Amino acid sequence: MKFLVYNYAVWYIIIIRAFAHPMNKEEQNMAYVITDACISCGACAAECPVEAISEGDGKYVIDPEKCIDCGNCAGLCPMGAPQPE
Ligand code: SF4
Ligand code: SF4
Repeated sequence: MKFLVYNYAVWYIIIIRAFAHPMNKEEQNMAYVITDACISCGACAAECPVEAISEGDGKYVIDPEKCIDCGNCAGLCPMGAPQPE
């Protein structure tokens, strides 16, 4: 009987932790990434609703912590550079 109670307790903890564990941003949703096709026109940065896009080294870059995966940047980029991760 003690063994059964112990088993239930272990499973209870496993299940609670699985559902209650706070997921980080990257686990919650995907972010877009800007590929090497970017020509640094800057059009996407101006239209990102959360200001996740900034000028990087040779191309624009998306901050995955800010990106809400709306797809605006992909829709307006003349080069099709932003892609879902
Ligand atoms: S709109 Fe496209 S080409 Fe222009 S900066 Fe953004 S990703 Fe680069
Ligand atoms: S997908 Fe939306 S939130 Fe993410 S970088 Fe593009 S415009 Fe910004």
